[in-house]
Amino acid sequence: MTRFSLRTLRLRPGEEYRDEQPIALEPFEFGGERYLPVPATVPAELTITRATSGTVFRLRFEARIHGPCYRCLGDAVVEAKVDAREYQAVEPGDGEELRTQYVVDDMLDLSGWARDAIALALPDQILCRADCAGLCPVCGANLNVEPHEHEEERADSRWAALAELRDRL
Ligand SMILES: [Zn+2]
Ligand SMILES: [Zn+2]
Repeated sequence: MTRFSLRTLRLRPGEEYRDEQPIALEPFEFGGERYLPVPATVPAELTITRATSGTVFRLRFEARIHGPCYRCLGDAVVEAKVDAREYQAVEPGDGEELRTQYVVDDMLDLSGWARDAIALALPDQILCRADCAGLCPVCGANLNVEPHEHEEERADSRWAALAELRDRL
């Protein structure tokens, strides 16, 4: 878990701190499945800008996420490009939007922030490829590997034959 101490950072209004910061990324759940960032540690650019009324935090990095495809459960890899901002007012008062949840006791929780930012940067569905055919609803086989359709059930064709007979009578 990567944290950044803000205690020794004494920025005055108008000043900016910028540095490359390695961040340990945690595995996370997405749509009920478990996903793993590979590599687990990525270089991120952290920028902290002090304004008169508060501090703006900006975090930029790219991560590769490995996990099951939403449709076929095969291996999927997606890239998440993160550019996140948080704001912490000098005197936040009771305002929720004036306080970032990632700053606690002068420590910036970079891992927690990165995990949430990745989740926001991911597509709605993680797929092995955009046109993944998924699993066959009848037999469960992977339709990417064995494209196929099932013939209509025998019973259906018997009913069809009966219907045809009835029409003729
Ligand atoms: Zn797939
Ligand atoms: Zn099938």
